Amino acid sequence: MLTVGINGYGTIGKRVADAVTQQPDMELAGVAKTRPNFEAQTAVRKDYPLYTAVEERVELFEEAGIGLAGTVSELVEQSDVVVDACPSGIGADNKSMYESLDTPALYQGGEDADLVDTSFNARGNYSAAAGASHVRVVSCNTTGLSRLLTPLQEQYGVEKARVTLVRRGGDPGQTSRGPINDILPNPITVPSHHGPDVNTVFPDLDIDTLGMKVPATLMHLHSVNVTLESSPTAADVRDLLREESRLFLVPESMAIDGAGKLKEFAHDAGRPRGDVWENCVWEESISMEDNDLYLFEAIHQESDVVPENVDAIRAVTETADANESIATTNETLGIGL
Ligand code: NAD
Repeated sequence: MLTVGINGYGTIGKRVADAVTQQPDMELAGVAKTRPNFEAQTAVRKDYPLYTAVEERVELFEEAGIGLAGTVSELVEQSDVVVDACPSGIGADNKSMYESLDTPALYQGGEDADLVDTSFNARGNYSAAAGASHVRVVSCNTTGLSRLLTPLQEQYGVEKARVTLVRRGGDPGQTSRGPINDILPNPITVPSHHGPDVNTVFPDLDIDTLGMKVPATLMHLHSVNVTLESSPTAADVRDLLREESRLFLVPESMAIDGAGKLKEFAHDAGRPRGDVWENCVWEESISMEDNDLYLFEAIHQESDVVPENVDAIRAVTETADANESIATTNETLGIGL
């Protein structure tokens, strides 16, 4: 049984904590929070042992009537693996604590790639994390692109990928983010950081990316063009992508015309928090022009990295191979719409 601690219990951390409790080979040691906000209170309601991330704040939790199990270093000490889901840059500050307590750590996509031994995507490079001490689960967008590009590369070869990412301005809970009435080239410079980030998983892949930000909170949308090294039909590509467990091909018959209906569908399907762990590829959009593949896909930024974190725990501890881990994670979470 792997004992897993979660440091940083926000958008990603709370989802990974829930996912860990569903794994037959893992137990949740607890979660660490900096303050006794609504998420801390949720952790208590779920009976997750709560640890303070800042020792001097013990009183703050006491005043809010929240009992603590201890401090974050105590949590890390008793964990076989710690998942750091703190805001970007804080993971780097925490690295020395994980090292001093000799606990392998998973970081999130907001950290720099050079912080870690390897960046990680379960379908793309699972075995690269074997036995590593510091692993970065790549960002929501890079996770989505890695899942899509891996089978294309394996089956047809990728000459070059070009992707425009229409990015949500912020998550639903991020009230300070925007824009609220604008369409931004973001970043304005080309390529955006996403292409180089994909190269942390596939060093040799030729990819250019452009980013935009729009007033939306639901999902990201990718406009994808991949020049393949061969020329399959659109039907061939559809069949290939349909076989991928973390790609959901949105059929025309569902009449899902955007991210709003995708999220509505996930809620109707009983998904926790309306999460959509899969890339959502519109089946009708899959088109071939000579060697050029075109498609649209939507990525739920708050949740697509959750199964990847679960798989990364098994990858670093070498307790399952990629296929075993992906199958267990998919089955326990209910992945596959
Ligand atoms: P978040 O702000 O929702 O959650 C971070 C949590 O960490 C908060 O609860 C915060 O209070 C807590 N925290 C702050 N400082 C801390 C500290 N020193 N010790 C312990 N906890 C601390 O952020 P998030 O969206 O969950 O992002 C976390 C990481 O995941 C970032 O690297 C981000 O880039 C990455 N990520 C985010 C998304 C997304 O869309 N939200 C998607 C993929 C990856």
